[in-house]
Amino acid sequence: MRDTDLYAQILGLQTPWYVSGVLLNRSDSNVTVQVAAQSAQWHCPRCGKPSPRYDKRTCRWRHLDTMQYHTILEAEVPRVQCDEHGVLLVDVPWAEPGSGYTAMFESVVIDWLLRTDSQSVAQMLGLSWGVVDRIMQRAVARGLARREELYPVNISVDETSFQKRHEYVTVVTDQDSSRVLYVADDRTTQSLDGFYKTLSTQQCDGIRSVAMDMWPAFIRSTLESVPDALHKISFDKFHVAKYLGDALDKVRREENRTLQRDGDTRLNRTRYQWLTNPNNMSREQKQHFAHLRQSTLRTARAWAMRQEAMSLWDYKSRGWAQKGWSSWLGWAQRCRLEPMKKVGQTIKRHLWGILNAVVLKSHNGHSESMNSRIQRIKRQACGFRNRERFRNAIYFHCGGMDLYPKAISV
Ligand SMILES: [Zn+2]
Repeated sequence: MRDTDLYAQILGLQTPWYVSGVLLNRSDSNVTVQVAAQSAQWHCPRCGKPSPRYDKRTCRWRHLDTMQYHTILEAEVPRVQCDEHGVLLVDVPWAEPGSGYTAMFESVVIDWLLRTDSQSVAQMLGLSWGVVDRIMQRAVARGLARREELYPVNISVDETSFQKRHEYVTVVTDQDSSRVLYVADDRTTQSLDGFYKTLSTQQCDGIRSVAMDMWPAFIRSTLESVPDALHKISFDKFHVAKYLGDALDKVRREENRTLQRDGDTRLNRTRYQWLTNPNNMSREQKQHFAHLRQSTLRTARAWAMRQEAMSLWDYKSRGWAQKGWSSWLGWAQRCRLEPMKKVGQTIKRHLWGILNAVVLKSHNGHSESMNSRIQRIKRQACGFRNRERFRNAIYFHCGGMDLYPKAISV
């Protein structure tokens, strides 16, 4: 088989395109595959109208390597003259307009980006970081443009910190498909308003539950945009657990300081044990922890309160859940553990949304897993220098979108 035929087959070229030559440059370790076009009826790339050929331009694309040789596709691409759109390059079947890389090459970059960080992909494929970043951004733009109209039913709204601790982005997730639907700057009312504005009245009507943290801006935005939101906003288990965990840790630290003054080191280095699920402990850890939690320590009381609160998510009816929570809130009021008492007051003010979460059975584990996926993206990128990139990376990895370029052949 001739090298020109071999490449024509590998590239899947069809008439009028054909391989006119293959140049091997050993000193630079590259192969140039020359492609030309026979005369044909060309069409305007904008409107598709048959248009006369005007002239041609030489264009180049990087393609997948041939063994150890960088491979460049070089083609004489006709320009057509459309009555309406003027003189334009025709579309080629192996690459998207404006890209210096074949669709197949971009697809490989996207495949790798889904598995590892941009820096490693750039090094491995001998590309600059900027090129990899542009391929990623184009993939996201493509994915967003292809996305069908959204009809979310159960959604989660979360904030996630970005680079500096006090900078945030707001992330809206579809709980049913575990896809990120929307990413906005900051965590203000406007941040979330931006998402609701992308939905029609009918789409807003279709929302059944909105799981979120007890964050006033998100509550306000949802109350204004989603009909009957008072019965749909859910302060889910994951977020409430976090408040209780923080309060429990405060109790432990304070008590540990007091104990240490008397030489009692029982609470030293026990943070993990109090906050972790006993089911995840080794047998030895379990035994040690059993002593601690059965003790008269204030921390043990706070722990019991948190455990009890966590079990209140199992109710099915609103009435019983309300009874359970009321009794728990009474306990929190009387407990003389200041941090727990404070969380109790927060919970009391937001009980309506907690009860919604209990009866709507908002997916509790969901928010946590999406959050940890986003944290991983952040770690991989070693901090994002701008929000735009962070936002793109979230869409790229968590948007569940079709990211790949479409090409007729190749
Ligand atoms: Zn046209």
